[in-house]
Amino acid sequence: MESVFTKIIRRELPARIEYEDEEIIAIHDICPVAPVHILIIPKKLIPTVNDAADDDAVLLGKMILVAKKVAAQKGIAEQGYRLIINVGKDGGQTVFHLHMHLIGGKSLPFETA
Ligand code: AMP
Repeated sequence: MESVFTKIIRRELPARIEYEDEEIIAIHDICPVAPVHILIIPKKLIPTVNDAADDDAVLLGKMILVAKKVAAQKGIAEQGYRLIINVGKDGGQTVFHLHMHLIGGKSLPFETA
């Protein structure tokens, strides 16, 4: 099932794009929780982590490397940031197209939820 992110990838919906290559797009979250809040999204539609296959290992690893690059680009690499993947309903996932939140630009409290 297509998500809002598929439409953004296809340019059918607008987004603030921070980074893009053949496999991954990184956009500013529409509802930021911190000064930097960017979503690292693989273009391949994998609904949740539960749907990831062994073949996706390189792509999943690349998401972290893109997050690192974007964090440096936004000038928050040194002070640090948080990477989060919500999985499923109880994990707080609302868009069922796998993505990683890159959150930073302020000191983040420890949270379990
Ligand atoms: P999650 O709860 O982990 O599924 O995160 C989904 C995120 O996507 C939320 O932080 C939303 O604010 C964000 N979001 C939803 N629609 C858009 C959109 N059109 N452009 C950018 N971010 C969006």
